[in-house]
Amino acid sequence: MMRRMFLAVSILIAAAACTQPPAPTAPEARPDPLPGTKLSVDQLNSQMFHVSAGKRLKGAWPNGARVAVGLSFDVDNATATLSTGNLDYEILSRGEYGAVDGLPRLLRMLDRQQVPASFFIPAASAVLHPKMITSIQSAKLPHEIGVHGWIHERLPLLNNEKEEQRLLDLSIETLTKMTGKRPVGYRAPSWKFSGWTMGQVKAAGFLYDSSLMASDDAYELLLDGTPTGMVELPIERILDDAPYFGSNADGSNPSLGDVYEVFQAEFDVAYEEGGLFLLTMHPHLMGHRSRAAMLEKLVQYMKGKPGVWFATHEQIANHVKPLIIAK
Ligand SMILES: [Zn+2]
Repeated sequence: MMRRMFLAVSILIAAAACTQPPAPTAPEARPDPLPGTKLSVDQLNSQMFHVSAGKRLKGAWPNGARVAVGLSFDVDNATATLSTGNLDYEILSRGEYGAVDGLPRLLRMLDRQQVPASFFIPAASAVLHPKMITSIQSAKLPHEIGVHGWIHERLPLLNNEKEEQRLLDLSIETLTKMTGKRPVGYRAPSWKFSGWTMGQVKAAGFLYDSSLMASDDAYELLLDGTPTGMVELPIERILDDAPYFGSNADGSNPSLGDVYEVFQAEFDVAYEEGGLFLLTMHPHLMGHRSRAAMLEKLVQYMKGKPGVWFATHEQIANHVKPLIIAK
């Protein structure tokens, strides 16, 4: 009886709760979902062109090549997960796969095909698996190692100028010590800049950045409308393995054939246009058996055409940089 009464009272309370109108939120506590509508054209200009595309850097490729191909691998492994304090070892081991099997398999493939690549490594990822650096360096190919944050920190989330500078300095210092060479290439974790990133990266003296996507061709980066002298080697979401393979393996991933088709079609047009074909990949994603085999098939397809220049991002940036001052 008591139990029935308790149940009835609970139902009444729940029903009353359902019919209560939602508590009003103070207007000042609600974030404005459309702040851009209130800005002047001057304010829009300063936001849009804080970091933007300057001169297009497109000229002839070396030795009469028709297209430049740059394969890049972001060696994140588990760092993005660790940066958030998530200690779910199922997810961490998915990242660890990059160091254990993914990277070695991709290095073997690059060696078989004799093509160089650029590896953007969060410095903490290199510290946790230092063997990765020696295996990249022991390949008899001019592979490049670039900066990709300390622990794959999302810079807009970090939202702290001093802390961002500390982590950038630490990343450069750590990779320089481990590789014996100061990196010349920068790729922001998750490609995300904060309001300070462009200024800090320019001040650090990088030759190029590869985090933005305003063009298919390389371009000079502008900071608040002023030429920086820095080369942008543009990335693209459709030329990245993460949007296709980065989700949970819940059966929704596209087939290898579909991804191959997009990559090949992008390459074919780059070849026609005398352009640039840059891929962003991750050893913990692309290093799986079937995917590495798909990538090898694509490399073989590209090698089958005359005039394809396979180069590191550093080589490509060095090649196009003189175009910044050319008339
Ligand atoms: Zn990354």
